[in-house]
Amino acid sequence: MNLSTKPNWLATLPESVINTERPLGESAVLLVCEHASRFIPEGLANLGLDQAAAQSHIAWDPGALALAERISDALDATLIAQKISRLVYDCNRPPESDQAIRAESEIYNIPGNTELSAAQREERADYIYRPFQKALCEAVKTRARTVLVTIHSFTPVYNDKPRAVEVGILHDSDSRLANAMLSAAAKSPTFKVERNAPYGPEDGVTHTLAEHALPRGLLNVMIEVRNDLLADDAGIEAVATWLEGLLTSALNELEGAS
Ligand SMILES: [Zn+2]
Repeated sequence: MNLSTKPNWLATLPESVINTERPLGESAVLLVCEHASRFIPEGLANLGLDQAAAQSHIAWDPGALALAERISDALDATLIAQKISRLVYDCNRPPESDQAIRAESEIYNIPGNTELSAAQREERADYIYRPFQKALCEAVKTRARTVLVTIHSFTPVYNDKPRAVEVGILHDSDSRLANAMLSAAAKSPTFKVERNAPYGPEDGVTHTLAEHALPRGLLNVMIEVRNDLLADDAGIEAVATWLEGLLTSALNELEGAS
């Protein structure tokens, strides 16, 4: 494609919007991090937000990528992460969702996302969402076996309300892996764990699972960690080690049962 014909913001996108780590990882686990980055291409001028808002949790899942990388290292698992902020396009939402390109998030209005034309929305989907979906699709198709695990973080205080839950184990219609992880968590109660919290499939958060795991019958789960637990390396290490333990024991149990 001729760069000179692209509108300005597309010229400021990185060459690839996807970061794949350990592409040849041995583990069946495929880690996905849709909200890994707060990078907003320069041509979008922070979407009209001030720097503090553009760098805040509305732009990304703080700590989620570092957590996913730590688990990827420990399990030798492939990790696919999005390199663009979810404010530009939320890769855990389909293009028809009004949450794919939010005009407001928590207390913020996002000026650069209001009054977008259908063509401008399509353009964001074409350059950010669709390449990410394609990478996931290709990974799932070419691997011998896939257990899909998406890694997210959530803010400890939302709309002024503190959240007590520390780790959410989320699922859509296939709860096999989530159930096994929840039983393992009950035996290792290091963190306050809940099913489908602080939100669940009714909020549209299981899009990646529904798109890539459910149609193929793949074991799958979405993990949400309260981001204050991921504020430093020691915290990330503690959560990663505990999650690896849950995942490994859950997968052993499920494989033993099959
Ligand atoms: Zn997220």
